[in-house]
Amino acid sequence: SAHVSFEGRRRVFTVSNQKGGVGKTTTTVNLAAAFAHMGATVLVIDLDPQGNASTALGVPHSAETPSVYDVLIGERPLAEVVQTSPESPSLRCAPSTIHLAGAEIELVSQVAREKRLSSALSSYLEGAGSDVDIVLIDCPPSLGLLTINAFSAADEVLIPIQCEYYALEGLSQLIGTVTMIQKHLNPDLVLSTIVLTMYDGRTRLSQQVAEEVRAHFPDQVLAAVIPRAVRVSEAPSFGQTVLAYDGQSVGAVAYREAALEIHRRGSAQQGGDATVGADE
Ligand code: ADP
Ligand code: MG
Repeated sequence: SAHVSFEGRRRVFTVSNQKGGVGKTTTTVNLAAAFAHMGATVLVIDLDPQGNASTALGVPHSAETPSVYDVLIGERPLAEVVQTSPESPSLRCAPSTIHLAGAEIELVSQVAREKRLSSALSSYLEGAGSDVDIVLIDCPPSLGLLTINAFSAADEVLIPIQCEYYALEGLSQLIGTVTMIQKHLNPDLVLSTIVLTMYDGRTRLSQQVAEEVRAHFPDQVLAAVIPRAVRVSEAPSFGQTVLAYDGQSVGAVAYREAALEIHRRGSAQQGGDATVGADE
């Protein structure tokens, strides 16, 4: 596999879209696995009460499991809830539990309610997580306080867009929220990356949606496109990412390409070294 240097800037992404079922979780866990394959140490923060990212990474997240809920509400250090995915020693996950479903409401009365995740993540990255290169935060399908916490904690917003009808619908609301966050909570936040998901090259519709999104966001949309593929949807029921489940499948290849492209673009932006060497 191609190993890449992640020395230098750490990157924190929030994977967001207030629509459900567009591929947020799938993109989070598979990019995380792809980055880990490339040699990065990766942390996934599961902010969706459904816990699908935790499931896909093979990480326990029953009601008793210490989770992101305890971090946001109970002020437990992030280091105490982070688990290692059985898939790779360099792939970690802060799981979500069902308790997180109440957090959106419980957070309302908390001090610095928008910054709870940001503070917890900063402490972690200064301590036990100092070796982490990439953080990916999987958001719930809403623009509530959990997503706002993710936006406050991140440097970059990554939006998965499903190549379907109404792909762009709701996007202005999402971008409006990002702008609000930039103004009031996190001036450094950038909408850096858009990933087209569930692309079906046989349909005119997928092609049209891809063209339309590229026309609106020429600098954000990745050249790598994630195809609709059965192996991608099967992997989570085995508690695996598609990279572990079927590493040669089109979905696995596409997510590896996407991760490599994100890395190259990031390195180019910081004027850094984006060289990739084959180590095997
Ligand atoms: P979200 O997190 O935005 O709700 P998911 O990542 O859970 O979306 O994806 C929604 C559904 O679509 C899931 O059942 C998932 O397995 C499936 N899916 C996502 N990406 C693909 C893909 N590239 N090919 C086939 N199925 C996919
Ligand atoms: Mg999800």
